[in-house]
Amino acid sequence: MKKNLIISACLIGTPCRYDGKSVRKIDVEALKEKYNLIPICPEIYGGLSTPRVPSERLGERVVMQNGNDVTDNFHRGAMAALEFAKINGATIALLKEKSPSCGKGKIYDGSFSGTLAGGNGVTAELLMAHGISVFGESEIEKLL
Ligand code: SF4
Repeated sequence: MKKNLIISACLIGTPCRYDGKSVRKIDVEALKEKYNLIPICPEIYGGLSTPRVPSERLGERVVMQNGNDVTDNFHRGAMAALEFAKINGATIALLKEKSPSCGKGKIYDGSFSGTLAGGNGVTAELLMAHGISVFGESEIEKLL
């Protein structure tokens, strides 16, 4: 039986990114051979619209480039993504790298200058804290 895999919706072609685009650059067909794909978009679940002003983590807060504090939206979205994973019995996730929600290991540093720093997106962090194994799209081979 195929396992359920949580996946960032923008990675499979959903135009839900801040700029209203997707970033489909993975082999979705190969993934579908092995997993039931369960798409999530935590920023949408948190009540943000598309397109939207981009956000970055700034310590414990998340702020938009225009200064709006969207920390609560990001936390609500992360909680919804976790619930979705639990309901579907998913223990693995393939998430979009560098995102303030979905990024794992490296994310933008809050200066909106394109600079990366060590850290995780809010949703990636919450999923990992609840025992879900999170992979970035450059690690897809580990799942195939
Ligand atoms: Fe993609 Fe995650 Fe950003 Fe949604 S929150 S657009 S799934 S990276």
